[in-house]
Amino acid sequence: MNHFEYRDSELFCEGVRLSAIATAVGTPAYVYSSATLEHHYAVFKQAFAPRDVLVAFAVKANANIAVLATLARKGAGADTVSQGEIERALKAGVPPERIIFSGVGKTESELAFAVKARVYQINVESVAELDALSRIAGSLGEAPSIAIRVNPDVGAGGHEKISTGKGDAKFGVSPEQALQLYARAHIDPHLTAKGLAVHIGSQIRDLAPLEAAFGVMRGLVERLRGDGITIERLDLGGGLGVPYFNEPDPPSPALYAGMAARVLDGLDIQLAFEPGRMIAANAGVLLARVIRIQERRGRPILVLDAGMNDLIRPAIYDAYHDIRPVQEPPPGARHEPVDVVGPICETGDTFTRNRALPPLQAGDLVAFSSAGAYGATMASTYNARALAPEVLVRGDQFEIVRRRWTLDEQLALERLPEWMK
Ligand SMILES: *Cc1c(COP(=O)(O)O)cnc(C)c1O
Repeated sequence: MNHFEYRDSELFCEGVRLSAIATAVGTPAYVYSSATLEHHYAVFKQAFAPRDVLVAFAVKANANIAVLATLARKGAGADTVSQGEIERALKAGVPPERIIFSGVGKTESELAFAVKARVYQINVESVAELDALSRIAGSLGEAPSIAIRVNPDVGAGGHEKISTGKGDAKFGVSPEQALQLYARAHIDPHLTAKGLAVHIGSQIRDLAPLEAAFGVMRGLVERLRGDGITIERLDLGGGLGVPYFNEPDPPSPALYAGMAARVLDGLDIQLAFEPGRMIAANAGVLLARVIRIQERRGRPILVLDAGMNDLIRPAIYDAYHDIRPVQEPPPGARHEPVDVVGPICETGDTFTRNRALPPLQAGDLVAFSSAGAYGATMASTYNARALAPEVLVRGDQFEIVRRRWTLDEQLALERLPEWMK
């Protein structure tokens, strides 16, 4: 469920006309719905009730501090993969005791930062990282809580580039190695061994691989406990898919939580989850304007003022985004096939080919659905374009929560070398 709906023949976000936002901030622009973010968080959290699970929103899906603060005020934690993401989460009011630090390439200074910030848990991905963290924690006189990230050798996810749980992926250690590492961390005075973590991929539409991975995790907990080693936490990652309109709906949070409860039945352990896409994707749209229609043999090309630098998912994951005219098409309007492209000088800057859309003209507004996750966070300034602004809606109010980055601001970081002066 989301709060982007037609009313009075126009697409609204909650109580605000998208056309009003386009007039106020220009296009392209990201628009997020507070009510949808809060609803998705609540649905996920409540699916596990009465069990109290930590829902740590994956900041890489949407890192805007107003979005993070909206979720933090409802009780969400944050799953972070860099110091920058930890700092964003803290700035948004996520307490350190709800922050998880994951990621395969944490630098020593990032580890030190997380130790000093006393985050909830650092997820360790390798032997070398465990050694480095122990040394760093020792020198700081701390004993951070850690989990070992397991690679369960289960493939999953909507696209090979977002599958992380196969044995040859770069993430985590094998189940056997995880047991050894956990036991080692357990007796290390500079570490507090708390749990095991897993995350097998993103945009997962089938519970079977998740169930297989959770089963592996249960087995590991039982083996550790069988050896008399205490373990209090399981971090079961993110990855639950969302409807992108062109494919069958993924399992609901209720089905997902039911599966987790079944697999972990009777296991007395604290659970954490790291959903990103599931919370944010359908809580945001990318608003764009048609620059012109390019006629050609076959079918016309709709050229938008948004490009792959604003929304890169179609270019790198062949992702589908529903494209909705902001002005509702009249009933019975004929849908004709078109290609939809951006202005970037690259063929990859094609959002879709051969999509049946109602008639559109230069100047018309369109909204890309499901753009609230992995949209703005993956944007770049390719082709010397400005980063699109971000707008947060709440009821009948909206505010710019990141303004457009001007060219002057970009250029302020650059200079000519001395030898050219
Ligand atoms: C990307 C990521 C997530 C979030 O994945 P979604 O598919 O957005 O739910 C969670 N945990 C880790 C470790 C990740 O890398």
